[in-house]
Amino acid sequence: MAEIIDGNAIADEIKAEIVAETEKLKAKGLAPGIATLLVGDDFGSKMYRGQVEKNCESVGFNYIEKTLPAETTEEEVIQIVKELNEDPAVSGILPLRPYPEHISDSAVIRNIREDKDIDCFHPANMGRLLLGEPTLAPATPSACIELLDRVGVEFEGAEIVVVGHSNIVGKPVAMLALNRNATISVTHIFTSQAGNLEKHTTGADILIVAAGKAGLITPDQVKDGAVVIDVGINRVKVLDDEGNPVLNDKGKPKTKTVGDVDFDAVKDKAKAITPVPGGVGAVTNMMLLKNALTAAKMQAGMD
Ligand code: NAD
Repeated sequence: MAEIIDGNAIADEIKAEIVAETEKLKAKGLAPGIATLLVGDDFGSKMYRGQVEKNCESVGFNYIEKTLPAETTEEEVIQIVKELNEDPAVSGILPLRPYPEHISDSAVIRNIREDKDIDCFHPANMGRLLLGEPTLAPATPSACIELLDRVGVEFEGAEIVVVGHSNIVGKPVAMLALNRNATISVTHIFTSQAGNLEKHTTGADILIVAAGKAGLITPDQVKDGAVVIDVGINRVKVLDDEGNPVLNDKGKPKTKTVGDVDFDAVKDKAKAITPVPGGVGAVTNMMLLKNALTAAKMQAGMD
Protein backbone atom coordinates (compact mmCIF):
# COMPACT_ATOMS: atom_id res chain seq x y z
CA MET A 1 0.00 0.00 0.00
CA ALA A 2 1.35 3.37 -1.06
CA GLU A 3 2.27 6.28 1.15
CA ILE A 4 -0.62 8.72 0.81
CA ILE A 5 1.01 12.11 0.29
CA ASP A 6 -0.87 14.47 2.56
CA GLY A 7 -1.22 17.69 0.55
CA ASN A 8 -3.16 19.39 3.34
CA ALA A 9 -0.39 18.77 5.86
CA ILE A 10 2.27 19.95 3.40
CA ALA A 11 0.16 23.03 2.62
CA ASP A 12 -0.04 23.77 6.35
CA GLU A 13 3.76 23.54 6.64
CA ILE A 14 4.20 25.96 3.73
CA LYS A 15 1.56 28.28 5.16
CA ALA A 16 3.40 28.46 8.49
CA GLU A 17 6.60 29.37 6.59
CA ILE A 18 4.75 32.09 4.64
CA VAL A 19 3.15 33.53 7.80
CA ALA A 20 6.54 33.70 9.53
CA GLU A 21 8.18 35.41 6.56
CA THR A 22 5.25 37.80 6.10
CA GLU A 23 5.55 38.91 9.73
CA LYS A 24 9.24 39.63 9.20
CA LEU A 25 8.50 41.64 6.05
CA LYS A 26 5.74 43.58 7.78
CA ALA A 27 8.18 44.50 10.53
CA LYS A 28 10.24 46.12 7.76
CA GLY A 29 7.16 47.96 6.46
CA LEU A 30 6.49 45.65 3.53
CA ALA A 31 3.14 43.88 3.12
CA PRO A 32 2.61 41.44 0.24
CA GLY A 33 -0.71 41.74 -1.59
CA ILE A 34 -2.57 39.94 -4.37
CA ALA A 35 -5.03 41.60 -6.75
CA THR A 36 -7.50 39.45 -8.64
CA LEU A 37 -8.86 40.75 -11.93
CA LEU A 38 -12.21 39.36 -13.01
CA VAL A 39 -14.28 40.62 -15.93
CA GLY A 40 -17.89 39.39 -15.96
CA ASP A 41 -19.27 36.80 -13.58
CA ASP A 42 -17.91 33.39 -14.52
CA PHE A 43 -18.95 31.03 -11.70
CA GLY A 44 -15.65 29.11 -11.45
CA SER A 45 -13.64 32.36 -11.44
CA LYS A 46 -15.80 33.80 -8.67
CA MET A 47 -15.26 30.66 -6.59
CA TYR A 48 -11.50 30.93 -7.15
CA ARG A 49 -11.57 34.65 -6.29
CA GLY A 50 -13.20 33.84 -2.93
CA GLN A 51 -10.55 31.22 -2.25
CA VAL A 52 -7.70 33.62 -3.05
CA GLU A 53 -9.22 36.26 -0.77
CA LYS A 54 -9.54 33.73 2.08
CA ASN A 55 -5.99 32.48 1.55
CA CYS A 56 -4.61 36.04 1.56
CA GLU A 57 -6.37 36.79 4.84
CA SER A 58 -5.10 33.58 6.39
CA VAL A 59 -1.45 34.60 5.95
CA GLY A 60 -1.76 38.35 6.55
CA PHE A 61 -1.53 39.52 2.90
CA ASN A 62 -3.45 42.44 1.44
CA TYR A 63 -6.18 41.41 -0.93
CA ILE A 64 -7.36 43.74 -3.68
CA GLU A 65 -10.45 42.79 -5.65
CA LYS A 66 -11.02 44.19 -9.13
CA THR A 67 -14.26 42.95 -10.62
CA LEU A 68 -15.40 44.66 -13.79
CA PRO A 69 -18.69 44.32 -15.68
CA ALA A 70 -18.70 41.98 -18.70
CA GLU A 71 -19.10 44.94 -21.09
CA THR A 72 -15.82 46.58 -20.00
CA THR A 73 -13.63 47.20 -23.05
CA GLU A 74 -10.22 45.60 -23.51
CA GLU A 75 -8.66 49.06 -23.32
CA GLU A 76 -10.31 49.71 -19.94
CA VAL A 77 -9.16 46.33 -18.58
CA ILE A 78 -5.59 47.07 -19.68
CA GLN A 79 -5.82 50.47 -17.99
CA ILE A 80 -6.74 48.71 -14.71
CA VAL A 81 -3.79 46.34 -15.18
CA LYS A 82 -1.50 49.35 -15.61
CA GLU A 83 -2.86 50.89 -12.38
CA LEU A 84 -2.29 47.61 -10.51
CA ASN A 85 1.23 47.49 -11.96
CA GLU A 86 1.95 50.83 -10.28
CA ASP A 87 0.14 50.12 -6.99
CA PRO A 88 2.68 49.40 -4.22
CA ALA A 89 0.02 47.50 -2.21
CA VAL A 90 -0.15 44.95 -5.04
CA SER A 91 2.78 42.56 -5.31
CA GLY A 92 0.99 40.04 -7.51
CA ILE A 93 -1.75 40.28 -10.16
CA LEU A 94 -3.94 37.28 -10.90
CA PRO A 95 -6.12 37.52 -14.00
CA LEU A 96 -9.17 35.30 -13.45
CA ARG A 97 -10.07 33.84 -16.80
CA PRO A 98 -12.04 33.12 -18.94
CA TYR A 99 -12.65 36.72 -19.99
CA PRO A 100 -15.53 37.76 -22.26
CA GLU A 101 -14.82 37.10 -25.93
CA HIS A 102 -14.10 40.73 -26.84
CA ILE A 103 -11.13 40.78 -24.44
CA SER A 104 -7.90 39.14 -25.55
CA ASP A 105 -6.32 37.11 -22.72
CA SER A 106 -2.98 37.59 -24.30
CA ALA A 107 -3.33 41.40 -24.47
CA VAL A 108 -4.18 41.53 -20.76
CA ILE A 109 -1.39 39.16 -19.76
CA ARG A 110 1.28 40.93 -21.80
CA ASN A 111 0.48 44.14 -19.92
CA ILE A 112 1.03 42.62 -16.48
CA ARG A 113 4.38 43.68 -15.03
CA GLU A 114 6.63 40.63 -15.27
CA ASP A 115 7.57 40.82 -11.59
CA LYS A 116 3.88 40.89 -10.60
CA ASP A 117 2.93 37.92 -12.79
CA ILE A 118 2.51 35.45 -9.90
CA ASP A 119 1.07 32.56 -11.93
CA CYS A 120 3.60 32.81 -14.78
CA PHE A 121 1.20 33.71 -17.57
CA HIS A 122 3.51 36.25 -19.24
CA PRO A 123 5.47 34.78 -22.19
CA ALA A 124 8.70 36.33 -20.86
CA ASN A 125 8.29 34.46 -17.57
CA MET A 126 7.43 31.23 -19.37
CA GLY A 127 10.62 31.77 -21.42
CA ARG A 128 12.66 32.15 -18.22
CA LEU A 129 11.12 28.92 -16.96
CA LEU A 130 12.17 27.14 -20.15
CA LEU A 131 15.71 28.52 -19.82
CA GLY A 132 15.90 27.46 -16.17
CA GLU A 133 16.30 31.08 -15.05
CA PRO A 134 14.76 32.36 -11.80
CA THR A 135 11.11 33.27 -12.30
CA LEU A 136 7.73 33.11 -10.58
CA ALA A 137 6.93 29.56 -11.70
CA PRO A 138 3.23 28.73 -12.10
CA ALA A 139 1.47 27.57 -8.94
CA THR A 140 0.12 24.15 -9.90
CA PRO A 141 3.29 22.83 -11.59
CA SER A 142 5.33 24.23 -8.65
CA ALA A 143 2.99 22.41 -6.26
CA CYS A 144 3.77 19.10 -8.03
CA ILE A 145 7.51 19.70 -7.65
CA GLU A 146 7.15 20.87 -4.03
CA LEU A 147 5.15 17.76 -3.09
CA LEU A 148 7.81 15.54 -4.64
CA ASP A 149 10.58 17.46 -2.89
CA ARG A 150 8.87 17.31 0.49
CA VAL A 151 8.48 13.53 0.30
CA GLY A 152 12.15 13.21 -0.65
CA VAL A 153 11.85 12.12 -4.30
CA GLU A 154 15.06 12.41 -6.36
CA PHE A 155 14.71 14.08 -9.75
CA GLU A 156 18.11 13.48 -11.32
CA GLY A 157 17.85 10.68 -13.86
CA ALA A 158 14.29 9.79 -12.82
CA GLU A 159 11.89 8.82 -15.61
CA ILE A 160 9.03 11.31 -15.33
CA VAL A 161 5.95 10.97 -17.49
CA VAL A 162 3.49 13.84 -17.64
CA VAL A 163 -0.03 13.19 -18.90
CA GLY A 164 -1.45 16.43 -20.32
CA HIS A 165 0.30 19.16 -22.30
CA SER A 166 -1.61 22.31 -21.37
CA ASN A 167 0.21 25.62 -21.05
CA ILE A 168 -0.79 25.94 -17.39
CA VAL A 169 0.07 22.48 -16.08
CA GLY A 170 1.53 19.83 -18.41
CA LYS A 171 4.17 21.86 -20.30
CA PRO A 172 5.49 23.90 -17.34
CA VAL A 173 5.65 20.93 -14.95
CA ALA A 174 7.64 19.04 -17.58
CA MET A 175 10.06 21.99 -17.89
CA LEU A 176 10.45 22.32 -14.12
CA ALA A 177 11.30 18.62 -13.87
CA LEU A 178 13.65 18.82 -16.87
CA ASN A 179 15.44 21.71 -15.16
CA ARG A 180 16.02 19.30 -12.27
CA ASN A 181 17.67 16.81 -14.69
CA ALA A 182 14.86 14.27 -14.85
CA THR A 183 14.14 12.45 -18.12
CA ILE A 184 10.80 13.72 -19.36
CA SER A 185 8.07 12.34 -21.59
CA VAL A 186 5.01 14.47 -22.20
CA THR A 187 1.90 12.59 -23.30
CA HIS A 188 -1.53 13.92 -24.23
CA ILE A 189 -4.80 13.12 -25.94
CA PHE A 190 -3.09 12.22 -29.21
CA THR A 191 -0.82 9.77 -27.36
CA SER A 192 -3.97 8.08 -26.06
CA GLN A 193 -5.64 8.14 -29.45
CA ALA A 194 -2.57 6.49 -30.98
CA GLY A 195 -2.90 3.76 -28.33
CA ASN A 196 0.48 4.65 -26.81
CA LEU A 197 -0.40 6.07 -23.38
CA GLU A 198 0.29 2.91 -21.40
CA LYS A 199 3.61 2.34 -23.20
CA HIS A 200 4.84 5.61 -21.68
CA THR A 201 3.12 5.63 -18.27
CA THR A 202 4.31 2.13 -17.33
CA GLY A 203 7.89 3.36 -17.68
CA ALA A 204 7.42 6.21 -15.22
CA ASP A 205 9.22 6.37 -11.88
CA ILE A 206 7.14 9.50 -11.33
CA LEU A 207 3.79 9.89 -13.05
CA ILE A 208 2.19 13.35 -13.10
CA VAL A 209 -1.35 13.32 -14.43
CA ALA A 210 -3.18 16.49 -15.51
CA ALA A 211 -5.78 15.51 -18.10
CA GLY A 212 -9.14 16.33 -16.50
CA LYS A 213 -10.52 12.83 -17.11
CA ALA A 214 -11.73 10.79 -14.14
CA GLY A 215 -10.47 7.20 -14.07
CA LEU A 216 -7.96 7.76 -16.90
CA ILE A 217 -5.09 6.07 -15.05
CA THR A 218 -5.70 2.52 -13.90
CA PRO A 219 -3.20 0.14 -12.18
CA ASP A 220 -2.15 -1.56 -15.43
CA GLN A 221 -0.85 1.85 -16.59
CA VAL A 222 1.38 2.32 -13.54
CA LYS A 223 4.79 0.81 -12.82
CA ASP A 224 5.18 -1.03 -9.50
CA GLY A 225 6.60 1.40 -6.96
CA ALA A 226 5.93 4.57 -8.97
CA VAL A 227 5.20 7.92 -7.32
CA VAL A 228 1.89 9.25 -8.67
CA ILE A 229 0.90 12.93 -8.58
CA ASP A 230 -2.74 13.45 -9.55
CA VAL A 231 -3.50 17.02 -10.62
CA GLY A 232 -6.94 16.32 -12.09
CA ILE A 233 -10.12 17.72 -10.56
CA ASN A 234 -13.34 16.11 -11.77
CA ARG A 235 -16.89 16.10 -10.40
CA VAL A 236 -18.46 12.65 -10.77
CA LYS A 237 -21.68 10.98 -9.60
CA VAL A 238 -21.49 8.82 -6.48
CA LEU A 239 -22.52 5.25 -7.45
CA ASP A 240 -23.75 2.41 -5.26
CA ASP A 241 -22.38 -1.17 -5.39
CA GLU A 242 -24.58 -1.93 -8.42
CA GLY A 243 -23.37 1.14 -10.32
CA ASN A 244 -26.55 3.18 -9.83
CA PRO A 245 -26.38 6.88 -8.88
CA VAL A 246 -26.86 7.58 -5.17
CA LEU A 247 -29.43 10.36 -4.67
CA ASN A 248 -29.29 13.22 -2.17
CA ASP A 249 -32.17 14.55 0.01
CA LYS A 250 -33.55 16.48 -2.97
CA GLY A 251 -33.60 13.38 -5.21
CA LYS A 252 -30.65 14.64 -7.27
CA PRO A 253 -27.53 12.47 -7.91
CA LYS A 254 -24.87 12.97 -5.25
CA THR A 255 -21.50 14.06 -6.62
CA LYS A 256 -17.93 13.98 -5.37
CA THR A 257 -14.55 15.32 -6.47
CA VAL A 258 -12.01 12.84 -7.85
CA GLY A 259 -8.74 13.08 -9.74
CA ASP A 260 -7.67 11.48 -13.03
CA VAL A 261 -6.20 8.43 -11.32
CA ASP A 262 -8.24 5.47 -10.07
CA PHE A 263 -6.97 6.17 -6.57
CA ASP A 264 -8.30 3.09 -4.74
CA ALA A 265 -6.85 0.68 -7.27
CA VAL A 266 -3.57 2.48 -8.00
CA LYS A 267 -2.66 3.06 -4.34
CA ASP A 268 -1.96 -0.68 -3.99
CA LYS A 269 0.65 -0.53 -6.75
CA ALA A 270 2.31 2.86 -6.28
CA LYS A 271 5.00 3.71 -3.76
CA ALA A 272 3.37 7.06 -3.02
CA ILE A 273 0.30 8.84 -4.35
CA THR A 274 -1.55 12.13 -3.89
CA PRO A 275 -5.28 11.97 -3.12
CA VAL A 276 -7.95 14.24 -4.65
CA PRO A 277 -9.04 16.26 -2.79
CA GLY A 278 -6.24 16.84 -0.29
CA GLY A 279 -3.30 16.60 -2.67
CA VAL A 280 -2.02 19.02 -5.31
CA GLY A 281 -4.85 21.57 -4.94
CA ALA A 282 -4.09 22.47 -1.34
CA VAL A 283 -0.40 23.03 -2.13
CA THR A 284 -1.21 25.02 -5.30
CA ASN A 285 -2.97 27.65 -3.17
CA MET A 286 0.15 28.03 -1.05
CA MET A 287 2.53 28.21 -4.03
CA LEU A 288 0.57 31.19 -5.36
CA LEU A 289 0.99 32.96 -2.01
CA LYS A 290 4.67 32.03 -1.96
CA ASN A 291 5.09 33.65 -5.38
CA ALA A 292 3.39 36.84 -4.13
CA LEU A 293 5.81 36.90 -1.20
CA THR A 294 8.80 36.44 -3.51
CA ALA A 295 7.39 39.13 -5.82
CA ALA A 296 7.03 41.58 -2.91
CA LYS A 297 10.67 40.99 -1.98
CA MET A 298 11.84 41.36 -5.59
CA GLN A 299 9.95 44.64 -5.94
CA ALA A 300 11.58 45.91 -2.76
CA GLY A 301 15.01 44.92 -4.10
CA MET A 302 15.40 42.26 -1.40
CA ASP A 303 15.84 39.20 -3.65
P1 NAD B 1 -6.60 21.22 -20.26
O1 NAD B 1 -7.98 20.79 -20.66
O2 NAD B 1 -6.10 22.54 -20.66
O3 NAD B 1 -5.58 20.12 -20.77
C1 NAD B 1 -5.85 18.76 -20.64
C2 NAD B 1 -4.68 17.98 -21.17
O4 NAD B 1 -4.95 16.60 -20.99
C3 NAD B 1 -4.43 18.18 -22.66
O5 NAD B 1 -3.04 18.25 -22.90
C4 NAD B 1 -5.02 16.93 -23.30
O6 NAD B 1 -4.35 16.57 -24.50
C5 NAD B 1 -4.78 15.90 -22.21
N1 NAD B 1 -5.75 14.80 -22.23
C6 NAD B 1 -7.10 14.90 -22.23
N2 NAD B 1 -7.64 13.66 -22.32
C7 NAD B 1 -6.62 12.79 -22.37
C8 NAD B 1 -6.52 11.39 -22.49
N3 NAD B 1 -7.61 10.63 -22.61
N4 NAD B 1 -5.29 10.82 -22.54
C9 NAD B 1 -4.17 11.59 -22.45
N5 NAD B 1 -4.20 12.92 -22.34
C10 NAD B 1 -5.41 13.52 -22.31
O7 NAD B 1 -6.57 21.03 -18.67
P2 NAD B 1 -5.60 21.69 -17.57
O8 NAD B 1 -6.01 23.09 -17.38
O9 NAD B 1 -4.19 21.34 -17.86
O10 NAD B 1 -6.08 20.88 -16.29
C11 NAD B 1 -5.97 19.46 -16.24
C12 NAD B 1 -6.69 18.96 -15.00
O11 NAD B 1 -6.03 19.50 -13.85
C13 NAD B 1 -8.15 19.40 -14.87
O12 NAD B 1 -8.87 18.38 -14.22
C14 NAD B 1 -8.07 20.62 -13.98
O13 NAD B 1 -9.28 20.83 -13.26
C15 NAD B 1 -6.97 20.21 -13.06
N6 NAD B 1 -6.24 21.33 -12.44
C16 NAD B 1 -5.97 21.22 -11.13
C17 NAD B 1 -5.26 22.22 -10.49
C18 NAD B 1 -4.92 22.06 -9.05
O14 NAD B 1 -4.45 22.99 -8.42
N7 NAD B 1 -5.08 20.88 -8.47
C19 NAD B 1 -4.87 23.37 -11.19
C20 NAD B 1 -5.14 23.45 -12.56
C21 NAD B 1 -5.82 22.41 -13.18
